[in-house]
Amino acid sequence: MSEARTLLVRYDEIGLKGRNRRYFENCLLANIKRALDGLGPPRYRVPHGRILVDTDQEHSAECARRLTRVPGIASVSVGVPVEREFDAMASVGIERIAPRLHAAGALKFCVRSQRSDKSFHKTSPQIDFEVGSRIMQRLAPEGLTVDIKHADFVLEIEVGEHETVVFDNRHPGLGGLPVGSAGEVLCLLSGGIDSPVAAFMMARRGCRVHYVFFDNQPFLGRGGFDKVERLARLLNRYQGEGRLYVVPFEEAQVAIRDHCRPANRVVLYRRMMYRIAASLAEAHQCLGLVTGESLGQVASQTLENLAAVSSTTRQSIFRPCIGLDKRDIIAWAKKIGTYDISVEPHPDCCSVFMPPRPATRAKEADLERDEERFPWQELVLKALSAVRTYALDAPTENGRTSS
Ligand code: ATP
Ligand code: MG
Repeated sequence: MSEARTLLVRYDEIGLKGRNRRYFENCLLANIKRALDGLGPPRYRVPHGRILVDTDQEHSAECARRLTRVPGIASVSVGVPVEREFDAMASVGIERIAPRLHAAGALKFCVRSQRSDKSFHKTSPQIDFEVGSRIMQRLAPEGLTVDIKHADFVLEIEVGEHETVVFDNRHPGLGGLPVGSAGEVLCLLSGGIDSPVAAFMMARRGCRVHYVFFDNQPFLGRGGFDKVERLARLLNRYQGEGRLYVVPFEEAQVAIRDHCRPANRVVLYRRMMYRIAASLAEAHQCLGLVTGESLGQVASQTLENLAAVSSTTRQSIFRPCIGLDKRDIIAWAKKIGTYDISVEPHPDCCSVFMPPRPATRAKEADLERDEERFPWQELVLKALSAVRTYALDAPTENGRTSS
């Protein structure tokens, strides 16, 4: 075992949850344990208002990296346990700060200490001063300055009853709430840019997200499924696990092509998707559907057309991208890592038999008239009976698939 390290995990929103706080903390701790599975194993402590993870030098960077992907965590710092004396504290600070100072040429820093052991002979401001001035003595000639309000590097020190730990600069986390604390939802995942971002946003607010993909393999080949499976696995990095349901959709599309007005096709496809997804959600205790729809982005996403698809179900419909510009959605997709897969060229089933001029303001009565011309209820049931289910783990860490 290499040198000891302690990770300090901070969470802010959970701190506001009053009497439910314990529930959220337990949920977060379970998710952290799962994310760090196989690394050590680490030991966990939960003093008031934060979580401490004891590990070693060898694993600490990987632990921190994984924790920055766990929803509910505001920030993470890696700490080194030290003797309770100022020279030792300052020397860890110098080790951490010097490389950054040399890389940047100049750096603003400050020390922030906390003394939970009140018997220690110095107060927090005194500790800050003692350690800070030792660090300045060494590094001021090389360009280090003190700036309490706008520090590039904050050296945090905890003087506790049993140990003293010096923490490196904070790594920002995702924020949000622990996955599982809000229940389960079903995301219509298409392989495009928007729906993976929508799924991520719901996971970050505490939902466990499962996915449904409407596949038209006879017309489009296997590529769509491969892409969606990789996206679902990648998204599961943020939540540990989530199921992928794959629905054969070619019969519904062919029926709509053959019997309905071409201008209404896309909205009619979407109404079938919503109905099938709503039944799946109900069967698997999901409390809502999630889509990547964004107002006005394409013809099918006008207020009228969104109303015409929503009215097919009583499930709640969540559209976290509704008010985002495409630019913002792309920035999120890059940040969470789904962008590169999403832009791989592969047509979505909605582009099959695309009419030249899709309706932008479909009327519900017209859509219902179209739907009288093919046995949609039967096709919904048939599709539901042919759903394939994949229980997916996150990539790299585990990589197991069951079907
Ligand atoms: P995305 O980038 O998510 O594909 P988009 O801008 O291409 O979105 P549309 O193709 O109009 O938009 O689809 C709107 C939403 O409908 C998608 O965000 C997704 O939630 C759902 N959807 C579309 N096609 C499928 C599909 N084949 N399987 C599952 N869901 C789909
Ligand atoms: Mg799409």
